[in-house]
Amino acid sequence: MPWNDRRRHPNQAGRAALAILVLMVLLAGAQSPQRARETAPAPEEKQLSVYGPRVSYSLPVSERNGQDYVALLEALEPFGNVSAGVDGQKWKLHFGKLEAEFRRKASAGKVAGKKFELPAAFLLEGDRGLVPLRALPSILSRMLATKADYHEAARRLFLGGAATHFTTDPRENELILNFTAPVNPLISTEPGKLKMTFTRDPVVGGSYILRLENPLVSSVTFAESNGRGELTVLGRLPLLAQFAPGGKTIDIVAAPRQARSLPPSTPPGLPEGAPPVAAPATVEAPPVTVPAPPTLQSLTAKPPFVVMLDAAHGGDDPGALLSETLEEKAVTLAFARRLRNELQTRGVSVVMARDADVTVPVEQRAAMADAGRVAIFVSLHAAAEGRGVRVYSAMINSTTPTPGGFVPWDTAQAGQVLTSRALADLVKAELTRHEIPTGELPAPLKPLNNVAAAAIAVEILPSGNDVGSVNAGVYQQRVAAAVAEGIAVGRPRVEAQR
Ligand SMILES: [Zn+2]
Repeated sequence: MPWNDRRRHPNQAGRAALAILVLMVLLAGAQSPQRARETAPAPEEKQLSVYGPRVSYSLPVSERNGQDYVALLEALEPFGNVSAGVDGQKWKLHFGKLEAEFRRKASAGKVAGKKFELPAAFLLEGDRGLVPLRALPSILSRMLATKADYHEAARRLFLGGAATHFTTDPRENELILNFTAPVNPLISTEPGKLKMTFTRDPVVGGSYILRLENPLVSSVTFAESNGRGELTVLGRLPLLAQFAPGGKTIDIVAAPRQARSLPPSTPPGLPEGAPPVAAPATVEAPPVTVPAPPTLQSLTAKPPFVVMLDAAHGGDDPGALLSETLEEKAVTLAFARRLRNELQTRGVSVVMARDADVTVPVEQRAAMADAGRVAIFVSLHAAAEGRGVRVYSAMINSTTPTPGGFVPWDTAQAGQVLTSRALADLVKAELTRHEIPTGELPAPLKPLNNVAAAAIAVEILPSGNDVGSVNAGVYQQRVAAAVAEGIAVGRPRVEAQR
């Protein structure tokens, strides 16, 4: 929640003239294999990013006595079982069969059976052992028996040769960026500029500046700082980024100059022979960033079974403030990515209404689902009150759809609402089976009423008294697995009604 809190910022109307559209076509499988900690710290906070062959994560960096420090246990946690304890002045850490040992305020210690000299004193805060950041690369290198390549100025640590390289391929009307592994950047735009931020992906490019005599793009720059890599594309025209399936290619093209207005009614299934569906555009003041429909399939055959995950809110709309530092938009996106993974492992294709922190109006999300002819639309929300999960379906009367006819936009859901309710029941049953408390209720919420496919909303609530648990990986994973199971169980029923 809140469901209908789409915000309008007055200054957007002006910027909209230069509307830079971000088109994100994220098809099934178009995601990075790294999925460690999804929650990035606030931008001004100092952070370290660690990239391994299988795992990547970010850690907060704390300043003590003018030096940067990190918690050693947290740095090793993503790699396996680790524990630590205080014994008098000594702090001992166990990682598999290896040990590290340091003394409070001393710089000499032991790592993996060998003496180890720290560049500054070891600090003990409670039972938390802090080591100088500069020593971390060699500690991890020894404990993990792998080579470490540390970009000190940017606080990015690459282990075991982890690196994703890219090449730029400027063409007449597009710029193609090819990556050596799938990437999943956060995209932000301002007029004439498109920026891709890589926090989880080990994208490297040195200090890269490419100036182009190209009608579309004037320069491409790569730089890194504070645990991130940033690829900035300056355009001579408004730009639009498009992800190719597989996630290894990003295509930068010119954005359409004008957004068309949303039609008053949206056909749920277009008549045969209709031209491919173009990006349904926004209503009234278009926001700066707008994704277009995820797939353009053959409109004659029954389209493939695809689930659209709609991580509610995003960009200018933070959603509910769940705690002082936790915004709903971040929780819904992290949860959507986990659910995507769970669905994909069950053989279900997934597209995302957004896969970055971008503004997408609710009407646009429904229009994307309808244009893409998805089988199921799942809107994801989060709230601080209550426990477990709430499952919603649209509050609307059921009607029999006219075959091939047009369905009024406001009641597009009416023909599918019984299927949606049945699906909500199945998802709820799976949650109960997984011992996650649930409630189910119909609600007049956006944009379910405007979706012509089976549509439900899933709202994740804390697992206990700690509000932060809504964003905890293990808990989100449990909920995502149960919801994915419910969708997989409901698939035949939904298929029968399409
Ligand atoms: Zn919400």
